[in-house]
Amino acid sequence: MKLLSARLLLPITSPPLFGGALLLQDGTILEIGEREELKRHHPSIPIEDLGDAVLLPGLVNVHTHLELSGLQGTLHGLFLDWLFQLIDRKRDLDSQFYLHSASQGVRDLIRGGTTSVGEITSAGMSFEVLRRSGLRGVVYYETLGLDPLQAEGIVRRAEQKIETMRQEAGGLLKVGLSPHAPYSLSERLLEHLSSLARRFRLPVAVHLAEAEEEVRYVKEGTGPIRERLLKMVGRDRPSHEIRGETPVELVHRHDLLSPSALAVHAVHLETEDVERLASSGVSVAHCPRSNHRLGNGIAPIPTYLERGIRVGLGTDSLASNDSLSLWDEMRFALKLHEGRISPEGLFKMATLAGAEALGLSKEAGSLEPGKRADLIAVRIHDLDEEDPYGSLLSSVQDGDVLLTMVDGKVLYRA
Ligand SMILES: [Zn+2]
Repeated sequence: MKLLSARLLLPITSPPLFGGALLLQDGTILEIGEREELKRHHPSIPIEDLGDAVLLPGLVNVHTHLELSGLQGTLHGLFLDWLFQLIDRKRDLDSQFYLHSASQGVRDLIRGGTTSVGEITSAGMSFEVLRRSGLRGVVYYETLGLDPLQAEGIVRRAEQKIETMRQEAGGLLKVGLSPHAPYSLSERLLEHLSSLARRFRLPVAVHLAEAEEEVRYVKEGTGPIRERLLKMVGRDRPSHEIRGETPVELVHRHDLLSPSALAVHAVHLETEDVERLASSGVSVAHCPRSNHRLGNGIAPIPTYLERGIRVGLGTDSLASNDSLSLWDEMRFALKLHEGRISPEGLFKMATLAGAEALGLSKEAGSLEPGKRADLIAVRIHDLDEEDPYGSLLSSVQDGDVLLTMVDGKVLYRA
């Protein structure tokens, strides 16, 4: 057993606690309270005081593609131009590249205080790296394909891959399924993937309503996605039925929206779509910097929050972002939503709500008795005691992280 204390504790599920401490045993948080009181109750237990630091739950990055980290700064332009460059570049990438990229990404996450991640793997390499990293998370196996005739083969391979991943995952990782996006899957494949997810009870992550072009293509079967993407794969018509449905309606019809599903981006939604998200219990992965970089606009997150939709924060990949830092992401979101989301709200998004979105909130996301010790300590600069969340948001960088602990194990110490 051990006591861990710091000038300030941010448990997230209870108010900021100055001069608090945690009692840890075998990777579990047993108690949280005033440092002096805990010391009195447990006089023989050693105490580690982190001094002028803040202790808080580890951050949860709900959307990454760590295998693309090595593409940082190499792709340009807005969504579709960017996407076609990515497809082009991926033709030359091999498993060594993905492995190296994922390792770089995992290192960045740990040093920046992220302890749980919602990772999409297409090559399987980030799964390997995460398995050995000590991080917690869900690794979603990505599938796509526009040719309906190939749907059965794709699903068979996905099923095998997922079975293997589940055997190898270990205690900290869960395995999920990622049907890539409504515009990159035939409807037949979508149907099969949905039944696979239900059969295996897999968490699901789907890129959804990310771009205006996607909405137009799904609804009408027209626009630049039809002209460019279909041409590239040699198809002369869309592989979904054109019924004027929005992307949200399409995946909803295939039963993909549920409390264990994550709608990634969710930028371009109609009013009825918001209700569909709310009533299905699906969570949203908000990736504001990636959406901005690719010119996809601003997701109406305050509206989602008002409707009770759970929202986690994601950086997306380094192919569409400058860093995997959730501190940077929170700061960007704070400005973007112009005061409609408070600093405290953003911390909640980057911790507890993210853990809930990934189905990890029994173990992680807050400092509470009974949860696993997934926590971080960061250095304090000019702490305003009246506004701890705001003052942390305005100053903390990845480099201020002093300690990253997952499941009671120290993964990083500055
Ligand atoms: Zn993504």
